[in-house]
Amino acid sequence: MRSRIVLLPGDGIGPEVTAAAQAALAAVARRFDHQFTFDTHLIGGAALRRDLPPLPSDTMAACAAADAILLGAVGAPEFDSRPPAQRPESALLQLRQRLGLYANLRPAKVWPGLEAAGPLKPEVLGRTDMLVVRELTGGLYYGEPRGMADDGGSAWNTMRYSREEIARIARVAFTAARARQSRVTSVDKMNVLETSRLWRTVVGEVAAEFPDVKVEHMLVDSCAMRITLAPASFDVIVTENMFGDILSDEAGAVVGSLGLLPSASLGDGPGLFEPVHGSAPDIAGRDIANPIGAVLSAAMLLRYALKLEQEALVMESAVARVTVSGELTRDLGGPASCSTMARAIVSQIEP
Ligand code: NAD
Repeated sequence: MRSRIVLLPGDGIGPEVTAAAQAALAAVARRFDHQFTFDTHLIGGAALRRDLPPLPSDTMAACAAADAILLGAVGAPEFDSRPPAQRPESALLQLRQRLGLYANLRPAKVWPGLEAAGPLKPEVLGRTDMLVVRELTGGLYYGEPRGMADDGGSAWNTMRYSREEIARIARVAFTAARARQSRVTSVDKMNVLETSRLWRTVVGEVAAEFPDVKVEHMLVDSCAMRITLAPASFDVIVTENMFGDILSDEAGAVVGSLGLLPSASLGDGPGLFEPVHGSAPDIAGRDIANPIGAVLSAAMLLRYALKLEQEALVMESAVARVTVSGELTRDLGGPASCSTMARAIVSQIEP
C-alpha cells in the first residue's frame, strides 16, 4: 500500500515522540512491504517562531490532501500571554474544525507490566480495555445562543443535537465495537435533558443496524462511577461532547501515565492522530518523554485511516512486549530514554 502521511511534530516533546512514532510506522512499512511517504510541516509555536500563523496555509493544504495526519503536540510558554487566536493551541482547533473531525476516539487500556502504574488496585483494574467515542463538533461547546450578560450577572450556553449528528457518531462507535468485543455503552442524562432523550432514541435506531453488537444505555453519573469501580466492564462508550470530554480523561487516568494515551479524531476526510498529552515544556529536549502515546496513535492511524488492522496489532504487540520487559521511561518508573524505548519498540516490530 502507498500512503501519504503528514507529520506535524509541533512543540516541546512533540518532535521527540513524533520521531518515535515515525520510526515505528517505517518499521511496519518495511515488514509489510508498504510505501509510506512522510511529509513534515510546521504547526503551533514552531510556525509562530518563523513568523507564520499557528496553522500555515501550506500545512493546512498538505493535511487536506493527506491520507492521514500524525501530530505531536502544540503549546509553548513563550506564547502564553498572546490572545487565543495567536497562540499555538489555536492551530489544533482550526485543524479539527476545517477537517470536520466529528468523532474523537480515546482508548484506555492496561498494558502488561503496568498494572500498578495507575491509581486503582490491580484487582479492580483487571484487564481494562475500553474505547471512549466522543462527539467532537456539537453539543454544549458549540451550541448557539451562548453568551454572558453585559453586567456579568448571568451567562448561558445551549446544548443542541440533531438526529444526523447523533446517528453518525453512533455508527462510528458501533463499527469500532465490531472490531472489538461488540459491546456499546451509550451514555446520556435522559432523566433530565431533552437532548439526551433524542440521543437515546437515535442510538437505539442505529443499534438496530448492528444486530450483532450489544447495546446498553447508562446515565453519565452512573458511568463516571463505574469507570472507577469496574473499568474492565466496558468495551466501547459513546457519548456527547462534554460528557465525553470528562469521561475520556477519567478513563485515561485510571490506566496510568498521560504518556501512554493515544487518540484519533475522524471525519469524512483525513483523520488526525495524536497523543493525548501536551507539549510538556518541563521535560522537552531531554529525551525522557514517553513515546508510547504517540506510537499507539500511529497504530490507530494504521487501523482507522489506512484500514491496516494486522499492522496496527503488530505495533500494539510491540508496545506490549516493551512494557512487560521493564524498559520504561521515567514517568513509568524506569531508566529508559525516549529514543531507547523507541528503538526497543522498532526492534519488536521488525521480523
Ligand atoms: P502536558 O500534557 O504537556 O504535561 C502535563 C504533565 O505530564 C507534565 O508534567 C509533563 O511532563 C507530563 N507528560 C506529558 N506527556 C508526557 C510524556 N509523553 N512522557 C512523560 N511525561 C509526560 O500538559 P500541560 O503541562 O498542561 O500543557 C503544556 C502545554 O501543552 C500547554 O501549552 C498546553 O496548552 C499544551 N497542550 C497541548 C495539547 C495538544 O497538543 N493536544 C494537549 C494538552 C496541552
